[in-house]
Amino acid sequence: MSIATRVVVVGGGYAGVLAANRLRRRTDVDVTLVNPRPQFVERIRLHQLVAGNDDAVEDYATVLADSVKLVVERAERIDLATHSVRLASGVTLDFDYLIYAVGSTAPVPAAVPGAEFAFPLGELEAAQRLTAHLADIPMQAPIVVVGGGLTGIEAASEFAEAGRSVTLVTSALGPSLASGGRRSVAKRLRKLGVTVVDNDTVTRVQPDRITLRDGRELPSAATVWTAGFGVPTLAADSGLSTDRLGRLLTDETLTSVDDPAIIAAGDAASPSAQPLRMSCQLAMPLASHAADTVLARLEGKEPGNLNPASVGQCISLGRRAGTIQMSHFNDQALPLHIGGRLAGVIKESVCAGTVSFLAKEARKPGSYFWPRGGQRQKNLKRGTVDV
Ligand SMILES: Cc1cc2nc3c(=O)[nH]c(=O)nc-3n(C[C@H](O)[C@H](O)[C@H](O)COP(=O)(O)OP(=O)(O)OC[C@H]3O[C@@H](n4cnc5c(N)ncnc54)[C@H](O)[C@@H]3O)c2cc1C
Repeated sequence: MSIATRVVVVGGGYAGVLAANRLRRRTDVDVTLVNPRPQFVERIRLHQLVAGNDDAVEDYATVLADSVKLVVERAERIDLATHSVRLASGVTLDFDYLIYAVGSTAPVPAAVPGAEFAFPLGELEAAQRLTAHLADIPMQAPIVVVGGGLTGIEAASEFAEAGRSVTLVTSALGPSLASGGRRSVAKRLRKLGVTVVDNDTVTRVQPDRITLRDGRELPSAATVWTAGFGVPTLAADSGLSTDRLGRLLTDETLTSVDDPAIIAAGDAASPSAQPLRMSCQLAMPLASHAADTVLARLEGKEPGNLNPASVGQCISLGRRAGTIQMSHFNDQALPLHIGGRLAGVIKESVCAGTVSFLAKEARKPGSYFWPRGGQRQKNLKRGTVDV
């Protein structure tokens, strides 16, 4: 009787779910997914949860293959010597392979005075806290969104469209966009009534106001912090090599530089210390590559190197408009974008599409497909960073 290979996937977000489903290409692999919540969180809709037009969760029954065992727990430590994961309850899970897919976090930097008065929205529980806070303040009360990246832009648009009075404070609006795409975003924000304070930073947060660099104060009944991503510390806490942010350091097959049984996927992966942009868009190709790396090893084959192509950045600007920033395969913005209502429709279909991709991979492992860029390995050799 042959013994099944045990794969533990830590983290049940886009990357973890896709990888777990894809591993089902082999029937002799036992896959266990560890995640702290019993529901799948659609992080790309958390700003909609706060605005009250989506719940941003799906049942795992919709996206995860029936044969994957779901363990609702937090992993606390990966033991390299015994190849086991210790869970918060004290239970341990042994593995032959582990897929590290713990994603990212969205903390308010502790160094910001008054950080405790700001509300992050990048994780489900944080978004729920913000939702409860907003329910307690009048619609006309001013709110400040900190951060002009894609999350800040999407959140500010959503709140303004819901009738809130919003100021967006940022050191740079849409820094990853080309100038046309940025103009398209700025125009829509204006139309929604969002006041943009550009080239500035928030130096202090208080319960009812924020302070800008020059000492000016703005009233803020809710300060929503969207600037910057962090990552869970599980890899570092377990003695695994990480990059400066704490992402698991891997080679180009996504295999940990410390242990060939540990493979990374999604936002928590740092291949060659040249990580890809943290995004759902790239988390899923990374996850399919991570699963393929495990499957190749099980077949006694050499796993291939990573080479995903980026296709652009899709930004919702409320429910009725968006901006689609087209990009080179290496994720650099092209001077080409789609704006307005059509872009809003495209963005919504992309969001719905991610869940459909996961569900399809659950039914038909191996069906997920993503274009390959052809440039990452070349650029790494040249010493230039690509996606
Ligand atoms: C408001 C918002 C809007 C966004 N919009 C877009 C967008 O439009 N397009 C786009 O491409 N990207 C977008 N992103 C980014 C995108 O959500 C992330 O890049 C994506 O979720 C990464 O997927 P992942 O699977 O790596 O991680 P996640 O989706 O973060 O999933 C990781 C999972 O691991 C779990 N976990 C963490 N630690 C442990 C542990 N110790 N044990 C067990 N489980 C653990 C987490 O709870 C989580 O369930 C957005 C993000 C936010 C916050």
